[in-house]
Amino acid sequence: MSWSQPQQVEDPHDQMAILVGSAIQLLRGQSGVFVVSNEAFDPQSSTEYTLYQLSKAALPALLSYVQEGMQPNSLHPLVVETLAPDLAQQMGLAEEVIAEHGVEWCSLAVYDEVGPLGTLYFLRLGAQRSCFERQSSDEDEVEYNALQLFVTQLATSLRFALRSQALVKEQDRLAAIFQYSTEGILTVDNALRIIDFNPAMQRLTGWRENEVLGQFYFKVLRPKDRQGNDLGLQDSVILQAFAGQEVINREMVICARDGQRFAVAVTASCVRSARGEPMNGILNVHDLTSEHQQEEQRSTFISVISHELQTPIAIIKGYASTLARTDAHFNPATIRSRLVAIEEEADRLNKLVGNLLYASRIQANGLQMDITALDLEYVVRGMVRRLRAKTPDVQVSVSIPEHLPVVMADRERIEEVLQNLLDNAVKYSPRRPEVTVTCYVTGEEVIVSVSDTGMGIALREQEQIFHRFQRVGEPLSQSTPGAGLGLYICKAIIEAHGGRIWVESTLRQGSTFSFSLPREEKAPLPMVVF
Ligand code: ADP
Repeated sequence: MSWSQPQQVEDPHDQMAILVGSAIQLLRGQSGVFVVSNEAFDPQSSTEYTLYQLSKAALPALLSYVQEGMQPNSLHPLVVETLAPDLAQQMGLAEEVIAEHGVEWCSLAVYDEVGPLGTLYFLRLGAQRSCFERQSSDEDEVEYNALQLFVTQLATSLRFALRSQALVKEQDRLAAIFQYSTEGILTVDNALRIIDFNPAMQRLTGWRENEVLGQFYFKVLRPKDRQGNDLGLQDSVILQAFAGQEVINREMVICARDGQRFAVAVTASCVRSARGEPMNGILNVHDLTSEHQQEEQRSTFISVISHELQTPIAIIKGYASTLARTDAHFNPATIRSRLVAIEEEADRLNKLVGNLLYASRIQANGLQMDITALDLEYVVRGMVRRLRAKTPDVQVSVSIPEHLPVVMADRERIEEVLQNLLDNAVKYSPRRPEVTVTCYVTGEEVIVSVSDTGMGIALREQEQIFHRFQRVGEPLSQSTPGAGLGLYICKAIIEAHGGRIWVESTLRQGSTFSFSLPREEKAPLPMVVF
């Protein structure tokens, strides 16, 4: 006798599948499915099926029949019906087999003293009977004692298997939370020794899990208060949680492996034994660095912008009201110099407002480029000429190789970038500024560098200066006008061209800002980039 495409149990070690398979075999069935009754087990879970020797494709036909067919109950735990040949075929049985033997559809209610657990549906060939279905003297009645005993045994084993399955799932869920949480999580035993240290915690502190397991957690985190004073063990948040206190989002400072300190908010909780004794402590660590940086950025923004707006306005107002005095007489040279100052300050205001709008446009992703083939040498020489005319005391030299390749770029934007870099080179050179502009070619790119011999930038601050409103270096750069937007805009423009911008600098010796642009033949299309 053969079944069309019999299916093996997906996981032969699956306890449920083994139990269901054995039960179907004992009942002399050939294939079937156990449907867990949701209310019986986990009302939140979706319906669970354990298939035995049945393909998943047969499941829809089987389930629709289940809904229509007679349901067994504790009085009549086993319902046996003859299955129509077309349905048997839909459930995967071969036509000849159906014709030769006929097929029975059996439903067995599985329950124990706790309640219903589910129903076992199975297909049986011909009029076969298992040893649990002995006929009583009355022809029509089935003797249920043996069957009931079997059902109770089966229910107990299935309940146990379902529980362990649920526990494994629960464990997997918890492991996934622990593994993928962006918050640092560490757990300790009742002697405060680390027993788990999740990947976020490893990223945060720089310690690997295998280096800290078994270590006293205080020694690893070296917690400090917000002023940087070491916390004593009496301040241990886990001990507080052990003592039944609530510890939620307590701010403190912890140390990374390399000694770097950072602010965190910790939440501690405790797992207790059945007798109420603390067994494990769980520490949830939330890194506050980016929140603090944002706060800092907001306050820097406000102070930079208010200073940059107020200074020119005050100068313009001061000169304008002086000139407007009716009781004073000024000679034409004085009037002219005051008007020039007013014009310069108005230009400064105009530039700031323009940069603010520019920055918000970049943020809104609206930087529009008009990219064409561009002769960089012509642009560079033009910008240097302008700089020499504006600031004759600045010594500017230019070095451009012959036949510099044409690049693909938006001329106006590249002029803005150069203008910014040249202005900075002059602005951040307290003594007599010496500026060098160099162009060179490497592989697929043309590179333009603007070097100065000015104040330079500390290594750790070199990354920050390309961010918005970041002004670094004390004290000169803070007293030099600027809103920390120029390099942010330069970076956005160059990156929109598919290029890079970077700085090499040594404190008090000078800086070289460089940007690259793709050569004409390598430039990606389309020509207009949004
Ligand atoms: P701004 O000059 O308006 O402050 P930028 O974005 O152009 O804004 O520059 C950001 C910061 O980078 C400046 O405040 C300054 O601290 C630093 N910086 C820029 N260029 C130079 C340079 N050539 N030499 C030294 N520091 C520089």
